[in-house]
Amino acid sequence: MNENAAYERGAVLVDGRWTPTATRTEVFNPATAAVIGTAASSTAADVDRAATAARTAGTRWARTTPGQRAKYLRSLHALLRERRDQLVQVIVAEVGAPVTVARSAHVDLALDILASFAELAEGWDDERIGNSLVIRQAAGVVAAITPWNYPLYQLMAKVAPALAAGCSVIVKPAELTPLSAYLLADAIVDAEFPPRVVNLLPGSGSAVGAALVTHPMVNVVSFTGSTQVGRQVGAAAGTALKRVSLELGGKSASLVLPGADLVAAVRATVESAAFNSGQTCSASTRLIVPVAAYADALAVAEARALELVVGDPTLDRTDLGPLLSAEQRVRVHGFVERAVADGARVRTGGTVPEGAGHFYPPTVIADADPHAEIAQEEVFGPVLTVLSYEGDTDEAVRMANDSRYGLAGAVWGPDTESALAAARRLHTGQVDVNGAPFNVRAPFGGWKASGIGRELGRQGLEEFCETTAIQLPIPMEESCPVRPATR
Ligand code: NAP
Ligand code: MG
Repeated sequence: MNENAAYERGAVLVDGRWTPTATRTEVFNPATAAVIGTAASSTAADVDRAATAARTAGTRWARTTPGQRAKYLRSLHALLRERRDQLVQVIVAEVGAPVTVARSAHVDLALDILASFAELAEGWDDERIGNSLVIRQAAGVVAAITPWNYPLYQLMAKVAPALAAGCSVIVKPAELTPLSAYLLADAIVDAEFPPRVVNLLPGSGSAVGAALVTHPMVNVVSFTGSTQVGRQVGAAAGTALKRVSLELGGKSASLVLPGADLVAAVRATVESAAFNSGQTCSASTRLIVPVAAYADALAVAEARALELVVGDPTLDRTDLGPLLSAEQRVRVHGFVERAVADGARVRTGGTVPEGAGHFYPPTVIADADPHAEIAQEEVFGPVLTVLSYEGDTDEAVRMANDSRYGLAGAVWGPDTESALAAARRLHTGQVDVNGAPFNVRAPFGGWKASGIGRELGRQGLEEFCETTAIQLPIPMEESCPVRPATR
């Protein structure tokens, strides 16, 4: 067992207090397969208590002004920034993310998200439409259900906007990665948010997640995870007519147009596919290149994959840590084996290494049929499928859109204008043009089987609001102040 108290967490945060649970779940380090700690296993009874507490606290929290809520978010940001190293350490331990990835993508992006919602709350205003004053009110009690791939980031993308909107929250982190959620809850307590506004219920999806989705006092379900579970959550929320947002899987295309910088495009796509060991919903995992460039693209992809350092996630030089679990590695390798059985070729990678951790090498798949499983389904491991197209941009765009998913994507063109023209035609929630960086202030979410709703930015905040249009009898210019009086 780890001596570190951050790893021994047997209580739930409900009703403003930490209460030990009867049973606990072990937490593993995916790089060593060793047990590193334990976390509480919440029950349906805890869900009931949390929902009642959140409902009570939410009524008062919703009456604070957006400016007041922004001050709480700023305090939380300051505390988490002070605790950055501890957050990074816990994420390296429970996710197996390399320390550089844990710092930049898991922790710093989560901090940026928090700051962005403090800013949005500070500028939050009612809207005028003719004689109507359109106001947004907190939508109520939020269930935030998150996966294990970016545990802190995923929670922040829900908790920060929910709190900014004036909602109270019940957090259900992934059972495999609860420790970073505890650190977030600690900081929320230390930032002196009103008790009960945030409740933390670690535990399983089948026990805690399902009970949250159907609980009558939960008004909003914000879910990130697999498309399969997302369908069930969406169906249950639909039956109860709850607001629901679903951030689900992806099989995003990286589309290379003729005349683009092939080497830059292919190298960046390999890096995207392998980032966080490929456990990123928005990863570019289908590289689509002109047929004339196919052989060169494969050579560049192989070379880049072989350069990436797989190993101990605590070391700065490591590019890829392990996959999250033994089960996940079996799943990833199964995709590769079936791809080969379907007639594709493994250009590099595709083997399960010896040793205790759940490591898997960056893998490049060539010659797959564009409709084969490996070209269509989310692997959630460092596996890139390289496809080619004949013909013009129309054919390239058609191939990129030939997917049941539509979460993210990339376009590489000889210049920004031609790449942007193709990007405008992709049926997906995000597109990066010529290697442009991710932006936490822009909306993120999926078309088709990649989900419903958007996270981040103004749209991400509106997911947690109900809208009321108030018609006023006099022209707006002469009416009472538009801004909430006590901002
Ligand atoms: P998941 O099974 O969809 O779970 C996501 C969250 O929902 C977890 O907290 C999970 O609890 C909970 N959950 C499970 N069943 C539920 C139910 N019936 N009602 C309410 N909540 C429920 O995803 P995962 O286990 O984290 O990963 C499995 C697969 O999902 C991966 O292999 C990958 O393909 C995909 N995935 C996609 C994304 C994405 O962002 N698109 C992210 C992560 C994973 P537990 O902790 O008990 O599982
Ligand atoms: Mg699961």
